[in-house]
Amino acid sequence: MIKVLKHPIIEHHLTILRNKNTNNFDFRYSTNVISHFLAIEAFSELPLYQKKIDTPLEKHIGSEILSDIVLVPVLRAGLALLDAFQFMMPTAKISFIGLSRDEKDFSINEYYFSKADFHEQTKFVILEMMIATGGSVCTAINRLQLEGASDFTVCTIIAAPEGVERIITEFPDVKIISAALDRELNSNKYILPGLGDAGDRWCGV
Ligand code: URA
Repeated sequence: MIKVLKHPIIEHHLTILRNKNTNNFDFRYSTNVISHFLAIEAFSELPLYQKKIDTPLEKHIGSEILSDIVLVPVLRAGLALLDAFQFMMPTAKISFIGLSRDEKDFSINEYYFSKADFHEQTKFVILEMMIATGGSVCTAINRLQLEGASDFTVCTIIAAPEGVERIITEFPDVKIISAALDRELNSNKYILPGLGDAGDRWCGV
Protein backbone atom coordinates (compact mmCIF):
# COMPACT_ATOMS: atom_id res chain seq x y z
CA MET A 1 0.00 0.00 0.00
CA ILE A 2 0.99 3.61 -0.41
CA LYS A 3 0.18 6.48 1.90
CA VAL A 4 0.61 9.93 0.35
CA LEU A 5 0.94 12.63 3.00
CA LYS A 6 -1.04 15.83 2.71
CA HIS A 7 -0.09 18.96 4.64
CA PRO A 8 0.31 22.64 3.69
CA ILE A 9 3.91 22.65 4.96
CA ILE A 10 4.72 19.65 2.74
CA GLU A 11 3.12 21.32 -0.31
CA HIS A 12 5.10 24.50 0.34
CA HIS A 13 8.43 22.67 0.57
CA LEU A 14 7.68 20.37 -2.38
CA THR A 15 7.30 23.49 -4.53
CA ILE A 16 10.70 24.72 -3.34
CA LEU A 17 12.21 21.34 -4.26
CA ARG A 18 10.56 21.28 -7.70
CA ASN A 19 11.71 24.82 -8.56
CA LYS A 20 14.83 24.54 -10.74
CA ASN A 21 16.10 27.86 -9.34
CA THR A 22 16.29 26.52 -5.75
CA ASN A 23 19.87 26.43 -4.46
CA ASN A 24 21.28 23.44 -2.60
CA PHE A 25 20.98 25.13 0.82
CA ASP A 26 17.21 25.53 0.38
CA PHE A 27 16.94 22.14 -1.32
CA ARG A 28 18.50 20.44 1.72
CA TYR A 29 16.39 22.43 4.15
CA SER A 30 13.10 21.60 2.41
CA THR A 31 14.03 17.92 2.08
CA ASN A 32 14.77 17.84 5.79
CA VAL A 33 11.43 19.46 6.71
CA ILE A 34 9.44 17.00 4.58
CA SER A 35 11.47 14.08 5.93
CA HIS A 36 10.30 14.88 9.47
CA PHE A 37 6.70 14.39 8.33
CA LEU A 38 7.67 11.08 6.70
CA ALA A 39 9.40 9.94 9.88
CA ILE A 40 6.40 10.82 12.06
CA GLU A 41 4.17 8.74 9.78
CA ALA A 42 6.67 5.87 9.51
CA PHE A 43 6.81 5.54 13.29
CA SER A 44 3.12 6.21 13.94
CA GLU A 45 2.19 2.57 14.53
CA LEU A 46 5.08 1.51 16.73
CA PRO A 47 3.90 -0.44 19.77
CA LEU A 48 4.20 1.26 23.16
CA TYR A 49 5.17 -0.50 26.37
CA GLN A 50 4.29 0.65 29.87
CA LYS A 51 7.12 2.27 31.80
CA LYS A 52 6.93 3.01 35.50
CA ILE A 53 8.63 6.26 36.44
CA ASP A 54 8.65 8.77 39.28
CA THR A 55 7.72 12.30 38.33
CA PRO A 56 8.94 14.97 40.78
CA LEU A 57 5.43 14.74 42.34
CA GLU A 58 4.25 11.12 42.18
CA LYS A 59 4.61 7.70 40.62
CA HIS A 60 3.46 7.51 37.00
CA ILE A 61 2.97 4.83 34.37
CA GLY A 62 4.15 6.22 31.05
CA SER A 63 5.06 4.68 27.73
CA GLU A 64 8.20 3.76 25.88
CA ILE A 65 9.17 2.51 22.43
CA LEU A 66 11.31 -0.62 22.51
CA SER A 67 11.19 -1.56 18.81
CA ASP A 68 14.39 -2.48 17.05
CA ILE A 69 14.63 -0.27 13.97
CA VAL A 70 17.14 -0.18 11.14
CA LEU A 71 17.21 2.84 8.85
CA VAL A 72 18.48 2.02 5.36
CA PRO A 73 19.31 5.07 3.25
CA VAL A 74 19.79 4.20 -0.42
CA LEU A 75 22.98 6.04 -1.46
CA ARG A 76 23.32 8.72 -2.57
CA ALA A 77 20.05 10.58 -2.44
CA GLY A 78 18.44 8.58 0.39
CA LEU A 79 21.00 10.18 2.72
CA ALA A 80 18.95 13.36 2.42
CA LEU A 81 16.22 11.79 4.59
CA LEU A 82 18.52 10.30 7.23
CA ASP A 83 18.99 13.35 9.43
CA ALA A 84 15.26 13.70 10.17
CA PHE A 85 14.78 9.97 10.79
CA GLN A 86 17.75 9.85 13.16
CA PHE A 87 16.42 12.90 14.95
CA MET A 88 13.01 11.27 15.48
CA MET A 89 14.45 7.86 16.38
CA PRO A 90 17.96 8.38 17.76
CA THR A 91 18.31 4.75 18.88
CA ALA A 92 17.75 3.35 15.37
CA LYS A 93 20.58 1.44 13.77
CA ILE A 94 21.75 2.38 10.27
CA SER A 95 22.57 0.14 7.36
CA PHE A 96 23.70 1.59 4.02
CA ILE A 97 23.07 0.30 0.53
CA GLY A 98 24.79 1.95 -2.43
CA LEU A 99 22.97 1.51 -5.75
CA SER A 100 23.75 3.11 -9.08
CA ARG A 101 21.52 3.19 -12.14
CA ASP A 102 22.92 2.48 -15.63
CA GLU A 103 21.92 5.50 -17.73
CA LYS A 104 21.46 3.36 -20.88
CA ASP A 105 19.55 0.25 -19.84
CA PHE A 106 18.46 1.56 -16.40
CA SER A 107 19.73 -1.59 -14.69
CA ILE A 108 20.63 -1.31 -10.98
CA ASN A 109 24.12 -2.07 -9.70
CA GLU A 110 24.93 -2.57 -6.01
CA TYR A 111 28.30 -1.03 -5.14
CA TYR A 112 28.10 -0.96 -1.34
CA PHE A 113 26.27 -2.69 1.50
CA SER A 114 26.82 -2.35 5.22
CA LYS A 115 24.80 -4.59 7.47
CA ALA A 116 23.41 -3.79 10.92
CA ASP A 117 22.70 -6.46 13.55
CA PHE A 118 19.01 -7.29 13.73
CA HIS A 119 16.53 -9.96 14.83
CA GLU A 120 13.25 -11.39 13.49
CA GLN A 121 11.08 -8.51 14.71
CA THR A 122 13.34 -5.72 13.48
CA LYS A 123 11.61 -3.04 11.41
CA PHE A 124 13.49 -1.81 8.35
CA VAL A 125 12.80 1.69 7.09
CA ILE A 126 14.21 2.20 3.60
CA LEU A 127 14.97 5.84 2.78
CA GLU A 128 14.87 6.76 -0.90
CA MET A 129 14.52 10.32 -2.21
CA MET A 130 12.63 9.36 -5.40
CA ILE A 131 10.81 6.19 -6.43
CA ALA A 132 10.95 6.23 -10.23
CA THR A 133 10.93 2.70 -11.71
CA GLY A 134 11.04 1.12 -8.26
CA GLY A 135 14.21 -0.74 -9.29
CA SER A 136 16.40 0.57 -6.46
CA VAL A 137 13.85 -0.10 -3.75
CA CYS A 138 13.14 -3.64 -5.05
CA THR A 139 16.89 -4.33 -5.21
CA ALA A 140 17.31 -3.05 -1.64
CA ILE A 141 14.41 -5.15 -0.33
CA ASN A 142 15.67 -8.26 -2.12
CA ARG A 143 19.13 -7.72 -0.65
CA LEU A 144 17.78 -7.22 2.89
CA GLN A 145 15.48 -10.24 2.54
CA LEU A 146 18.53 -12.35 1.64
CA GLU A 147 20.02 -11.23 4.96
CA GLY A 148 16.81 -12.35 6.74
CA ALA A 149 14.84 -9.08 7.04
CA SER A 150 11.07 -9.21 6.60
CA ASP A 151 9.37 -6.02 7.88
CA PHE A 152 9.77 -3.09 5.50
CA THR A 153 8.51 0.48 5.24
CA VAL A 154 9.73 2.61 2.35
CA CYS A 155 9.82 6.39 2.76
CA THR A 156 10.26 8.74 -0.17
CA ILE A 157 9.78 12.40 -1.09
CA ILE A 158 8.29 11.79 -4.56
CA ALA A 159 7.00 8.54 -6.08
CA ALA A 160 5.93 7.73 -9.65
CA PRO A 161 2.95 5.42 -10.26
CA GLU A 162 5.15 3.01 -12.27
CA GLY A 163 7.55 2.47 -9.37
CA VAL A 164 4.82 2.17 -6.77
CA GLU A 165 3.03 -0.43 -8.90
CA ARG A 166 6.20 -2.48 -9.24
CA ILE A 167 7.02 -2.43 -5.52
CA ILE A 168 3.46 -3.29 -4.49
CA THR A 169 3.31 -6.12 -7.03
CA GLU A 170 6.65 -7.64 -5.98
CA PHE A 171 6.22 -6.97 -2.26
CA PRO A 172 2.53 -6.71 -1.33
CA ASP A 173 3.27 -6.37 2.41
CA VAL A 174 5.52 -3.33 2.05
CA LYS A 175 4.17 0.04 3.14
CA ILE A 176 5.24 3.04 1.07
CA ILE A 177 5.00 6.53 2.55
CA SER A 178 5.47 9.40 0.13
CA ALA A 179 5.12 13.17 0.28
CA ALA A 180 3.88 13.19 -3.34
CA LEU A 181 2.65 10.83 -6.03
CA ASP A 182 3.58 12.38 -9.37
CA ARG A 183 2.16 11.87 -12.86
CA GLU A 184 4.53 9.59 -14.79
CA LEU A 185 8.08 8.82 -15.94
CA ASN A 186 9.64 10.33 -19.07
CA SER A 187 11.65 8.25 -21.59
CA ASN A 188 14.81 8.67 -19.44
CA LYS A 189 12.92 7.36 -16.40
CA TYR A 190 12.82 10.75 -14.71
CA ILE A 191 9.70 11.61 -12.74
CA LEU A 192 7.30 14.24 -14.14
CA PRO A 193 6.79 16.89 -12.88
CA GLY A 194 9.42 15.68 -10.38
CA LEU A 195 12.40 17.73 -9.33
CA GLY A 196 15.21 16.58 -11.64
CA ASP A 197 18.20 14.64 -10.34
CA ALA A 198 17.64 14.54 -6.58
CA GLY A 199 21.14 13.30 -5.73
CA ASP A 200 22.88 15.99 -7.79
CA ARG A 201 20.67 18.74 -6.40
CA TRP A 202 21.05 17.62 -2.79
CA CYS A 203 24.84 17.25 -3.19
CA GLY A 204 24.96 20.61 -5.00
CA VAL A 205 26.93 19.21 -7.96
N1 URA B 1 15.92 9.82 -9.59
C1 URA B 1 15.94 11.17 -9.55
O1 URA B 1 16.81 11.76 -8.91
N2 URA B 1 15.00 11.86 -10.21
C2 URA B 1 14.03 11.27 -10.92
O2 URA B 1 13.19 11.97 -11.50
C3 URA B 1 14.01 9.87 -10.95
C4 URA B 1 14.96 9.15 -10.28
